[in-house]
Amino acid sequence: MNEPKQGTEEEPSSIEQFDQMPLSDSLRKGVREMGYRQPTPIQARTIPEAIRGRDIIGSAQTGSGKTAAFLLPILERLMNHPRGRVYALVLTPTRELALQVEGFLKMLGRHTHLRGVAVYGGVGMEDQRRALHGSVEIVVATPGRLLDHMRRGWVDFRSLEILVLDEADRMLDMGFLPDVRTILSHLPRDRQTMLFSATMPPEVLRLSHDFLTHPHLVRMQERSAAAAGISHSAFLVGANRKTDVLCDLLKQEGMESVLVFARTKHRVDRVAHQLAMRGVKAGVIHGDKSQAQRVRALEGFRRGHHVVLVATDIAARGIDVEGISCVINYDIPQDGDTYIHRVGRTARAQTQGAAISLVSREEVDDFDRIEQHLGIKITREDLSEKYPSPVGPPPAGRRYPPQNRTTRSSGQRPRHSYRF
Ligand code: AMP
Repeated sequence: MNEPKQGTEEEPSSIEQFDQMPLSDSLRKGVREMGYRQPTPIQARTIPEAIRGRDIIGSAQTGSGKTAAFLLPILERLMNHPRGRVYALVLTPTRELALQVEGFLKMLGRHTHLRGVAVYGGVGMEDQRRALHGSVEIVVATPGRLLDHMRRGWVDFRSLEILVLDEADRMLDMGFLPDVRTILSHLPRDRQTMLFSATMPPEVLRLSHDFLTHPHLVRMQERSAAAAGISHSAFLVGANRKTDVLCDLLKQEGMESVLVFARTKHRVDRVAHQLAMRGVKAGVIHGDKSQAQRVRALEGFRRGHHVVLVATDIAARGIDVEGISCVINYDIPQDGDTYIHRVGRTARAQTQGAAISLVSREEVDDFDRIEQHLGIKITREDLSEKYPSPVGPPPAGRRYPPQNRTTRSSGQRPRHSYRF
């Protein structure tokens, strides 16, 4: 990482308990009630410095516990502030993530007087306007909708003390950085800023150069790392047999909560439809769905009404559902970072999970590149004989790797083994 000149990298933290952190009793209680027994590594390294008021750059994967790493210092700092003014702003790339952060805020801060609101597009502005007008101290917002409120003069940031940019690399991917810069140019300069990002592309580094002062750098993982605790495997199968393989996989033991990724909105709808035709109920989440539909799909999944959720990459950003047992790549992502983001939806906070990829002949090269990016060998099993393609032989010149090839991560046995 080409880090900002003025930043300093932290010493590894020796903090192992929340009790060792300068947190108020009411926050400790909130943390206990969330079931958090020990801080995750990013929390141990971020929270003490952030409570001291330092700017932070956190280079951390999703699932690392970064949300509490910034929320607890915010809550601690604002603990004795009078109500009714906006002191903290968290910018997130998606409405799902905004809702999720606001949800954590409510739970972690339940024994404080502090209140938050999630501000995002696709719903009416009036409720949000009312909340922004003197009823909250913390705003969690997506950039576009927040700018709409700012342009109408509906939000007063004169008292703002803390800004968080969450998942900055995704804001960049989604084209939000110009909006983010506009918002930042209207905020008080004298404030604490924390920036979290799974990867640090040059534009994000420039943003941190421009808007952070002497940041404390917390670098959790190299950019190519996927969370430990995930077992990766792949099945080589013809593109037109993927849904059959998916259905059979879903019948396997342990498939209680499965997130399936497809490349486009259209393909997401098609996979869900094909599953429905085979009697498998699946929720759907993508950019063409209304906010109400997305919330319903997510809630249904969370509550176990349907064990499968099919999503596109962007819509899945910020999905946080406890205990996703498996992520299935129905379509192979374009690059290693997207793969890491996808599979990061399982094995959250150091639990275990499985990532399964359905690789068609056309996707083998992409998948090879992903393997290289991750630096691991992924178990592959060729299912093209078991699930033969109904339409003729494969085109000449493109062949799968040797039949029934099964490679294993060096020295590792997969924790999950799938048989048909
Ligand atoms: P995040 O990376 O912030 O999206 O968090 C990922 C998941 O880890 C969420 O489900 C959190 O509730 C959970 N989590 C965060 N901190 C802890 C902790 N200290 N102990 C256990 N789980 C945690």
